[in-house]
Amino acid sequence: MSEADGDAKLRVAIIGSGPAGSYAAAHLLRHSAPELHVDLFERLPTPWGLVRAGVAPDHPKIKSVTRVYEKTAAHDRLRWFGNVEFGRELTVEDLRAHYNAIVYAVGTPIDRELAIPGEELERSYAATDFVGWYNGHPDYADLRFDLTGERAVVIGAGNVALDVARMLMLTHRELASTDIADYALEALGQSKIREVLVIARRGPEQAAFTNPELLELAELGDADVSVASEDLALCNGLADPSADAIARRNAEILHEYAGRAATGKRRMIRLRFLLSPVAIEGEAGCVCAVVLARNELVVASDGSLRARATDERLTIPAHAVFRAIGYRGTPLPGVPFDEERAVIANAGGRVVDANGVRHGEYVVGWAKRGPSGVIGTNKKDAADTVDRLLEDLGGGRLLTPPPISDAALAAHIHTLAPESIDWAGWERIDRHELALGEASGRPRVKLTRIEEMLELARRE
Ligand code: NAP
Repeated sequence: MSEADGDAKLRVAIIGSGPAGSYAAAHLLRHSAPELHVDLFERLPTPWGLVRAGVAPDHPKIKSVTRVYEKTAAHDRLRWFGNVEFGRELTVEDLRAHYNAIVYAVGTPIDRELAIPGEELERSYAATDFVGWYNGHPDYADLRFDLTGERAVVIGAGNVALDVARMLMLTHRELASTDIADYALEALGQSKIREVLVIARRGPEQAAFTNPELLELAELGDADVSVASEDLALCNGLADPSADAIARRNAEILHEYAGRAATGKRRMIRLRFLLSPVAIEGEAGCVCAVVLARNELVVASDGSLRARATDERLTIPAHAVFRAIGYRGTPLPGVPFDEERAVIANAGGRVVDANGVRHGEYVVGWAKRGPSGVIGTNKKDAADTVDRLLEDLGGGRLLTPPPISDAALAAHIHTLAPESIDWAGWERIDRHELALGEASGRPRVKLTRIEEMLELARRE
């Protein structure tokens, strides 16, 4: 990456260098005049958001998308500032005083709550915490997960639930060739968990996970997969008119799993349907069981099939519970927030408040539409928002801060965030992690401490 000298006529600040922020930068640079410059801000000293800290370590192909983002980062009209936090060092007022537009690409970082008794017990874990932990996100590196019991229950039927189930059931050998955090490799290698129950509140055709992720469960080295036939029997005759090809294929795969005999592997993933947790029971403050209500499917007013609890209850002894029912956004200081949808308040990517559109502020990715879709979904989503930004640019509706040179603005940012690092700093961290990985037959060995990252980033 090179720093452009002189006055840039138009400046856009993008907050967050995950997929949404990277795609927004790429689209902006591709479709704008040479006067437009992008400053990409990242809270951590490492880029790529959920590609680094969310995608499961055993999915290296998905992570290879960073090669595309690297090309954008190398663009001569883009500068990356790492270890700079919006709301701490950067404020919306300061950004509005220096940039023609701001694009928020901050994702939806926290877990949705089940809101049932016992959710707060020890060994009741948010999947978001577990995912951040095994991926070496510095915010989660000090967490501890008690894996000393035999059975874990995962609540939810999305791809995160399957990631969690799989990560709990992969062997040390399978994990050892990935970029999983070292401490997680050790802890999971010693795990005593032998059985994971994945609990879906609706039926097979309503599950949110996708076909490759479901098929993958049958390919684990030391874990079988099974589906409770009694659950499927309850769903018979309940075809979902809104089910797409993915949903129908999921149902086929699940029926095939239900007919399978166990192959004698030491571990087991059991997928259960039409069950909702109504309480988590504890003993001495720790999870000991999950109480599930048997559901039936009913047609909601919008035509979709919803789960409705019957009077039937099942109590399943469990050592730990992982809640994987989706992510939610958190408000950014000074940025309008839609509490109901838990995203930044927006109309088609333009940030809105009680007075209407807030000129010069935009949002992309999960912070805009909620936590849905795969990584590639963010490409079109980001392009749609950036097209609105470019329309507003054409219509003279962006912010008009006083001109400032690249160097003066960089110096200003450094004053606000003296610990910030540049792209060369990240590249030093990257090279170091890759070299450690090469030495141990792994794609990379991640640094998980901010201080260690910063020390490396500053090393000449
Ligand atoms: P998700 O896809 O929205 O799935 C959430 C699941 O939780 C759904 O099955 C939902 O059931 C269930 N749920 C919600 N509230 C519940 C409640 N109160 N009680 C019981 N169950 C409840 O969310 P996610 O798994 O966190 O994934 C987020 C996004 O990341 C998704 O788009 C996903 O595909 C993506 N992702 C992709 C990959 C991959 O491509 N390999 C990996 C991880 C994540 P209902 O449908 O009944 O609401």
